[in-house]
Formats: sequence, structure tokens, C-alpha cells
Amino acid sequence: MNDSMRRLAQIAKLSQEINSLQQELKNLPAHVEELQSQFNDLEGEYLNKKNESDKLESEQRQLRGQVQDEEAQLKSKEERLNSLKTQKEFQAVSKEISTGKATNRERETRIEQLNAALEESKSTLTPLESKIEELKGKLQNARAEIQGSLDEVQSKLKMLEESFKVELSFLPEDVLSKYHRIQQKRQPAAAVVLGGTCQECFIHLPPQLFIEIQKKQEIHSCPSCHRLLYLNLD
Ligand SMILES: [Zn+2]
Repeated sequence: MNDSMRRLAQIAKLSQEINSLQQELKNLPAHVEELQSQFNDLEGEYLNKKNESDKLESEQRQLRGQVQDEEAQLKSKEERLNSLKTQKEFQAVSKEISTGKATNRERETRIEQLNAALEESKSTLTPLESKIEELKGKLQNARAEIQGSLDEVQSKLKMLEESFKVELSFLPEDVLSKYHRIQQKRQPAAAVVLGGTCQECFIHLPPQLFIEIQKKQEIHSCPSCHRLLYLNLD
């Protein structure tokens, strides 16, 4: 029965390794998720600012068009001035010209204001753009890295799970069914005994039981947590 205890010790070790790899698999994507959320926030901020800036630019473009149209009209009105026959017509067109000029001056002032606003908006957009690029690179690297690690951990896990199954299959049937039963209630299903103490629930085993366990002839259960008990045989 020494063999069963050795297997049980091996099973417990494999089960621990499997658990820690499964935990590792769960934790691996955390860094990428963190970067992704930073990236999303930054991109959101950038898109808002860019949207504002685009609006300013479109207003400026529109005003520039209006200034040009107005100038063309002013030019043709000025040309017409000399050919006008009555004083009244002359005054009317002159007034249109001065109103047009005043409107264009207002437009030019607004264009200047927009220039300043656009300048300022560019000064926040440019560093945001480079931050986004930087984060994009980091994210790609982290993704590639994590994929490598994921593959590695997954193949290690697969191997361990195979060995775990093989070891289990060698346990005597009654021990195996006990193992499965306990596993459904608590993990791990096996506990090592050190100095007469179950190392999972830390109860001090009755001396007679400890003596039986040390004979390594049979697999015993912990009277408190019911885990299958084994000794470190190495
Ligand atoms: Zn116990």
C-alpha cells in the first residue's frame, strides 16, 4: 500500500500545481485589461476634444467662404458705383458696401478668435495623440506577451492534468471514490500529515491513527476534515 500513499502524495502535489496554474491563467489578462481601460478613457477624451476642434474648424471654413463671397460682391458693387445714375442709387449701393465691409470685419475678428481657440485645442490634442500611440504600442506588446504566456501555461496545465488523471487511475477503487467524494466538498481532497497533525484542518490526530498512518499500509481519512491523509515520502 506504500504505492497508494506515494500516488496520493503525487496527486496532492499535482493538484496544487494545477490550481496555481489555473490561478495564473485567470490573472494573466488583468494587465491587458488595465491597459485597455486606460486606452479607452484616453481615446474617449481625445475624441471629445477632436470633435470640438472639428466644429471650430468647420465654423472657420464657413466664415472664410462667406468673407470671400462678400469680397466678390463688394468688388462688383464698387465697380457698379461709377455707372449708377441717381444719387439715391449711389447712396443705397454705398451703404450696402459699408455694411458688407463691416460684416466682413466682424467675420475676420471671429476667424482670429477661432485661430486662437484652434491653436489651444491643438496644444492639448497633440500630446494626447502621442499618448494614445504610446499606449497602443504597450497594449499590442502586452497582448502578444500574454498570448505567449497563455499558450505556455495552457500546455503546461494540459500535461499536469494528464499526469493527474493517470495517477488517479492507479489508486485503489475505494480510495478513488473517497477522493472524488471529498473533492466535491472541499479542496484539496488530500492532506499531508506533519508531526501527527493534519495540515489542512490542523487537528492533532489520535496517536493510534498516526501509528497506523506511519505503517503506510492503508490510506486513512482525517477524523475532522475527512481528507485522505498521506506522509511526505521523499
Ligand atoms: Zn484534517
